[in-house]
Amino acid sequence: MTETPQQTVLIVDDDRISRTMLAELLKDECRVVLAKDGASALQRIEEDPDICLVLLDVSMPEMSGYEVLIKLRGNPLTADLAVVFISGFTEEENEEQGLQLGALDYVFKPIRPVTVRARIRNYLKLVAQRRELQRLASHDGLTGLVNRRYFDEALALACRQAARRGEPLNLAMIDVDYFKQYNDRYGHPAGDEALRQVARLVQRHARRPDDVAARYGGEEFVLLLPGQPDFGALLEALRGEVQALGLEHLSSKVAPCVTISVGAVTATVDEAEEAAAALLHRADANLYAAKQAGRNRVVRDGAAEPAA
Ligand code: GH3
Ligand code: MG
Ligand code: MG
Repeated sequence: MTETPQQTVLIVDDDRISRTMLAELLKDECRVVLAKDGASALQRIEEDPDICLVLLDVSMPEMSGYEVLIKLRGNPLTADLAVVFISGFTEEENEEQGLQLGALDYVFKPIRPVTVRARIRNYLKLVAQRRELQRLASHDGLTGLVNRRYFDEALALACRQAARRGEPLNLAMIDVDYFKQYNDRYGHPAGDEALRQVARLVQRHARRPDDVAARYGGEEFVLLLPGQPDFGALLEALRGEVQALGLEHLSSKVAPCVTISVGAVTATVDEAEEAAAALLHRADANLYAAKQAGRNRVVRDGAAEPAA
């Protein structure tokens, strides 16, 4: 794996000459952005999620590099961000402090350009590999959707948020109809392709930042759309879109093409641990009802009562 050209490195230094020199050194390795003090560095990081490595001066007026790193580690969104100190403080205790705070490395100024560039190249590779590992751990390889593990965490988080705000949650379980027969008739590779196409349609309905579309298991998907007022209409549209794909399925007893059944629930939740499981259970019961009622349909209970 090679480092991707769009990796973004933030250089933080109050000294303009140091900033420009480092930026010049790295311009062929990555995209470089600059900050001249700790506060603007923290703001840049918050605004630009592409920043994957921070080269951080230690001695700066108002906020030191150490303080910047402590603040980054204290925020769950930036706790793992890779940081390398580049500092004129060359005592062993400075180096020790920087590394103990969790920096990847501590480089002395004046820098040796060739070795610093080589080190940063290595760190960029490391960061890219770590990102790829995280993506693999949270995504499904067949469809590219997030996986069940990711979804379970997202649902628990959404339950806590919805409980705090007193807002209802929308959850749908989506299951492909007669899919075993599809595989039996058209083969497993065709089954895989059908799943990819259904997944793409499911994903298209997860548009807002808190929305989640996941592959829950074999031929089952889940959609979590907090605060979506048109949930029923949206699911009905999705059901129609899957049918409109027109993927021939002559072994289906409900239609001559691939269809889905959907069980959905809209409910307020409380802070209880079981809230997520209770929501899933209700969605699953409605999915079962949709199957019993003949498949290729949406069964939804939208009562705004507590799920637990
Ligand atoms: P129902 O309408 O009641 O949902 O019937 P069904 O046949 O869809 O349900 P069942 O649970 O009996 O079968 C699910 C099938 O999904 C069986 C399994 O081979 C297939 N399947 C699960 N994961 C994959 C996959 O990744 N690729 C392919 N091609 N098939 C898969
Ligand atoms: Mg199933
Ligand atoms: Mg099925």
